[in-house]
Amino acid sequence: MKEKIELSSQKKCFGEEQSARREFLKTSAKAGSVALASMGMASVSIIGGGGIFSSLKADSKSSSNIKSNGLNEALSGKEIPSFDYAANSKEWKFKYFSFKRHPMGENDILIEILYAGICHSDLHTVSGDHHMAIYPMVPGHEIVGIVIAVGSKVSKFKVGDYAGVGCMVNSCGECEACKQSKEQYCTNAKTVFTYNSKDVFHDNAITYGGYSNNIVLSEKFAIKVSKNAQIEKVAPLLCAGITTYSPIMFSKVKSGQKVAVAGVGGLGHMALQYMVHLGAEVTCFDIIDKKDSVLALGAKEFVNVKSTRFKEFSNIFDFIISTIPYKYDINDYHKMLKFGGEMAIVGLPAPKDAPKLDSQEFLWQFQNKKIYPSLIGGIKETQEMLDFSVENNIYPKVEIISIQKLDSVYKIVAEGKADFRFVIDMKSLS
Ligand SMILES: [Zn+2]
Ligand SMILES: [Zn+2]
Repeated sequence: MKEKIELSSQKKCFGEEQSARREFLKTSAKAGSVALASMGMASVSIIGGGGIFSSLKADSKSSSNIKSNGLNEALSGKEIPSFDYAANSKEWKFKYFSFKRHPMGENDILIEILYAGICHSDLHTVSGDHHMAIYPMVPGHEIVGIVIAVGSKVSKFKVGDYAGVGCMVNSCGECEACKQSKEQYCTNAKTVFTYNSKDVFHDNAITYGGYSNNIVLSEKFAIKVSKNAQIEKVAPLLCAGITTYSPIMFSKVKSGQKVAVAGVGGLGHMALQYMVHLGAEVTCFDIIDKKDSVLALGAKEFVNVKSTRFKEFSNIFDFIISTIPYKYDINDYHKMLKFGGEMAIVGLPAPKDAPKLDSQEFLWQFQNKKIYPSLIGGIKETQEMLDFSVENNIYPKVEIISIQKLDSVYKIVAEGKADFRFVIDMKSLS
């Protein structure tokens, strides 16, 4: 009981300070570095932490009365308190939760989270569909916020910058994949995912994601976000954006090609927009009628997979991207590829529902048709995607929600009825 009382008073305190702090940070971020200096930004040097870090630069004036966003603890080299919503079982039920993130290191940044997207794979991960679920689990790997503290060796960010975090927060940095900035494929198996993952660089602590007020990570894994970005729409780019952008670039989709999107949800509607921007003619397939929405985003045609029209496509597409997260027949799509065509699979159904390729049918189609899986994208490419998206005004269609709506929103996402991405406004956490 005592613990409960303390938690709620802490929460209230956090709420009040949080909104005052957020207003300050928003002003700071918009005003730029000159304004930051005039508003009392200063350098704070701290010695301690057994050499883990040496100094942090932060807003010394504001930090004195801010406790709950973790800034004070970060400056003191302590573990950083975090306030979140967590699932405690595979049921999609979320409860308020708090824990401590690891102390800041000299290459780390502390981000106050403004928005977090809800990805379909969050649903699968909470349910334990892909691999073992560790509870309590704080999902969220589409994160954007404001940098509120930086370690002494940080060079990419300064306090007041916008920063994004996607699906991973660290990797070995030494293997062939990491050296090519394909950190998601770290051959030493040291990719640390943003949540439900063992952080091998921090005593195997379990990682917690973005349904949270803050996150601390190495600057190498944070993405710079332009001040010109439509910030409330940026978070989904960090997973849905890069997951589709990467194979589209890998397969060199270009103007004049006929291409297709199988499954037009959060990922699919990003794939559609990228390929329309590149000048391709895009056909969209889905089991739910989304004709008006996809035509509005530039699709040439929408086809309901339950219609007879679906069976009419054969040897036509240069490229197909499948984002379908449930059971489906991959052979239906493979035959739609024209000679030399490529199909990328980015949707991840639970293993029992994984699409089964008929190898006999595959072999006898010949024509160099290729199918390959793809997982998110490396950090270098994620930065490229984000800059490309902001520069060309390509954003997800989002519905902003309060964090208290997680339970009901998960059901809508599961039914494939999201329009197209739910994004949590972290102000609602207070
Ligand atoms: Zn995702
Ligand atoms: Zn590696």
